[in-house]
Amino acid sequence: MAEIVIKDLNKKFGEFTAVNNSNLTIKDGEFFVLLGPSGCGKTTTLRMIAGLELPTTGKIFLDNKDVTFLRTSQRDIAFVFQLFALYPHMNVEKNIGFPLKIQGVSKRQIKDKVIEVSKMLHLEHLLKLKVSGLSGGDRQRVALGRSIIRRPKAFLMDEPLGALDAEFREMMCFELRKLHNDINATTVYVTHDQIEAMSMGDRVGIMNKGIVLQADDPLTIYNKPKTMFVGKFIGSPAMNFIKINSVIQKGKKSIKINDRKIEIPKTHEDSKATCHYLGIRPENIVITNDGEVRGKVFGVEYLGAHQIVTADTEVGRLKVRTSSHIQLMINDTIGLHFLPDNIIIFNGETEVALKSQFIL
Ligand code: ATP
Repeated sequence: MAEIVIKDLNKKFGEFTAVNNSNLTIKDGEFFVLLGPSGCGKTTTLRMIAGLELPTTGKIFLDNKDVTFLRTSQRDIAFVFQLFALYPHMNVEKNIGFPLKIQGVSKRQIKDKVIEVSKMLHLEHLLKLKVSGLSGGDRQRVALGRSIIRRPKAFLMDEPLGALDAEFREMMCFELRKLHNDINATTVYVTHDQIEAMSMGDRVGIMNKGIVLQADDPLTIYNKPKTMFVGKFIGSPAMNFIKINSVIQKGKKSIKINDRKIEIPKTHEDSKATCHYLGIRPENIVITNDGEVRGKVFGVEYLGAHQIVTADTEVGRLKVRTSSHIQLMINDTIGLHFLPDNIIIFNGETEVALKSQFIL
């Protein structure tokens, strides 16, 4: 097991900066997910941790040891690309035991280890079969077995479930997380799928344009985004943003938009920016006749237990998540109430959340 620390990490490809002064500590035994849009620098960060790419500047520590310039083979980590990259001519037992064979471990010890790992992955009954005849899910378990058999200090996984269909993906997410709970090795998992990230990670690091913007547990990432980017990127539908063309004074309890008074959480700071945004999640807006803002229903998406209502209001177009029991028609006039304890105020110039009783 290992703690991974990256310090002021930069990677340039020519003039282009792929990773921009990243700082991150991944705790010993943690399942840490790096999440962000395509091209934001997730894979490059992972490849630098693995030693497959050298940083332009900055350092990487594994268990307090500076490994920045060590070869991959000297770092004692396992890099998992796609779980089903196996040797088709070998049977399951030989595939799983292969990493120990090339390390020169004795046949007896390999056999014992293969049995231990195959029990963990429910593969005992398949050991003598060729991998080419296995189902996709079983092949991936074999590949996982091969990567955990030598018990590396850390696992680095780059979109390992990317090529799977939805059903297998869901099953493997669950199994990977369970396996992590059993062996407890530090894992860094790269994905661009927010559901995968939020359901698997102990913590999720949100990256954009080469920078880790926020690294927190999934609940904090969802409820307390520190930037507008995180509020937009996480959640479906995304956070709503209501523009306010005024400064924000410390301790203020409400603001006016178009003569409508909206309660806000007390901020701990004055903000002189000329524009701000109130960020509010769709489920924190309540449809009620005496709401502080009025609007008209523009669209309704029925999603089973709940529905997403799009409303054109005095403060802009908003998405509301509400129970499907409420019957609404296009063009219905509705009132909307914003739950003040769930509003995040963002500086409109920097797009960073103001410090408040909820965001510290
Ligand atoms: P994806 O999910 O699409 O793989 P990512 O977040 O993993 O995206 P990276 O693969 O880390 O992104 O790439 C970050 C940026 O660096 C991209 O714009 C990519 O084109 C660029 N890049 C990556 N590797 C190289 C390279 N060897 N040479 C030049 N540019 C590169």
